[in-house]
Amino acid sequence: MTYRSRLLLYVGMLIVLLVGMMTLSFKAARDVIVTGTEEHLRHVALRKEAGVKSQIQELDHYTDVIAGDLRLQEYLYIILELGTSGEGLKAYYDRQFGSLPTDRSLIVSTRGEVLLGKEYPRLIAEMVPRADAREAQHFFFDSPQGVVMVAARPVLYQGERLATAVVARVMGRDWLTKQEDLSRDYLLFFERRGRVLRSSNDRYQGLLIDSQTRRLDYGEHHFRLRQVSYGAADHRLPRMWFGVAESTLTELLAGYQRWVYSFAALGSLVVLFVGWLVLRNFSKPMEALMSTTEKMINGELPVMTRSDASTEMDQLVNRFADVLDALRREQSKLERANRKLQETAITDSLTGLHNRRYLQEVAPGLFARVVRDKRYLTAVLLDLDYFKAINDSWGHLGGDAVLVHFARLLKHNSRANDFLFRIGGEEFMILNVTEDPQDSVAMANKIRALVNSSPANYRGNVLPITVSAGVSCCYGKSGDISLSTLMRAADKALYEAKSAGRNRVILHSSCLEATSAVRRRAQVTVIEGGVRDQSRE
Ligand code: GH3
Ligand code: MG
Ligand code: MG
Repeated sequence: MTYRSRLLLYVGMLIVLLVGMMTLSFKAARDVIVTGTEEHLRHVALRKEAGVKSQIQELDHYTDVIAGDLRLQEYLYIILELGTSGEGLKAYYDRQFGSLPTDRSLIVSTRGEVLLGKEYPRLIAEMVPRADAREAQHFFFDSPQGVVMVAARPVLYQGERLATAVVARVMGRDWLTKQEDLSRDYLLFFERRGRVLRSSNDRYQGLLIDSQTRRLDYGEHHFRLRQVSYGAADHRLPRMWFGVAESTLTELLAGYQRWVYSFAALGSLVVLFVGWLVLRNFSKPMEALMSTTEKMINGELPVMTRSDASTEMDQLVNRFADVLDALRREQSKLERANRKLQETAITDSLTGLHNRRYLQEVAPGLFARVVRDKRYLTAVLLDLDYFKAINDSWGHLGGDAVLVHFARLLKHNSRANDFLFRIGGEEFMILNVTEDPQDSVAMANKIRALVNSSPANYRGNVLPITVSAGVSCCYGKSGDISLSTLMRAADKALYEAKSAGRNRVILHSSCLEATSAVRRRAQVTVIEGGVRDQSRE
């Protein structure tokens, strides 16, 4: 698995983790919100129940006030026991208790005779069967105007029960409106057989509720419901429900969901961006290192671009570049040393001319060249005359000084395409590619003359020297001639020169053909086995 794919896998895992965590947190938050809402609903419903109860107690208290009124007791005694008309009762009652916040008032005697509130037949019908109760009581009953909350209490006169005072409140539409807090999110209503029987708002009238899920739906509006129990469990009574609109909840959840999605998307983008940065920061130097090592395997030492950044990866690349620089420096040192070694191996240390080893090296190339160009390769073999005597007279160092002097003369008077060699002791050789071997003879003579006129100088002493030379040649077409043959011929010609008295140049007989064309111009004389330079004679 490559570094890149591994990193991509990690980035993918991070994104999955992030999205998973956000989804889980959303679910947890949703649960918290839903539970919170349910709890809120329960609390409010319980508050409504407590409200109804306190209203009953309030009515109870009113009946206590009414039944405890002495004037009212006397009024009732006079009416019931003495049989007077009850005309004044109503006026007294209204004056005394008219300000009490009740919807209905009723006074019914123990014999079931209605003394006050004849206009409330439904209340009378519910009350008559309960008229002889000895204790205070309260109950509910349903009426076309709404559920009626009733409180009743016996009225006594001197310990004797005369009548029952009754007050009631109608839990109708106005009552419902008053109980609902002023919010469109709340709904209080009565329900019977699954339908909304009475509500503060007409639009919910007759709607079906789902008592399983305890929900009420009206178009876009959804309410979560909770029953508010009131009074005794009388199955004929409609049930009271309190509802909280889900709109706030759904808006809250939708907002949170949007936030979760945005955060998950943004987080994923950030993770991707970080992954890309890491890839870029690691991949680039990595690729540079890989390609450099590849080149090194193939024997190269490439130049690496350094980085200004200070990360570990960049430092590694820079170190690698340092290593490459050091290797390059070592390599060029080695190359210099090698060149020097090669140079030393082919150079004569005393004279600075090439040695015999180099002669062996260049000879094949020169032979090939004369074959290709159809020209002559000439070898001029030079030997100092009576050199041994110089050594004997001036010592080895004196001899060396003469050799160095001679080599300098050779160097300064040879042409660019002449190859100069010291092939041993006081023997030197010049190899030259030419169209006419006589050119080499002329060149040898020029050197010979120069040597004659330029004596060596050793410790202030003038040492006159002469040199003899043998010249041999080979033509490009001959093909079978070798360096040793060429040297042997030159040696032979040199021997001739020595034998003839030294300080002269002899051309080997094998070069006669070549020289015949230029004989007149060169003014040379053929002697047995060689060509004698006449200029000396
Ligand atoms: P000829 O004219 O016949 O050439 O006489 P020659 O004395 O030059 O002949 P020979 O070849 O016998 O002498 C060469 C001498 O050169 C012998 C040797 O001691 C001397 N010699 C060889 N190499 C060196 C060198 O490197 N330095 C010095 N000083 N002498 C050398
Ligand atoms: Mg010699
Ligand atoms: Mg000699």
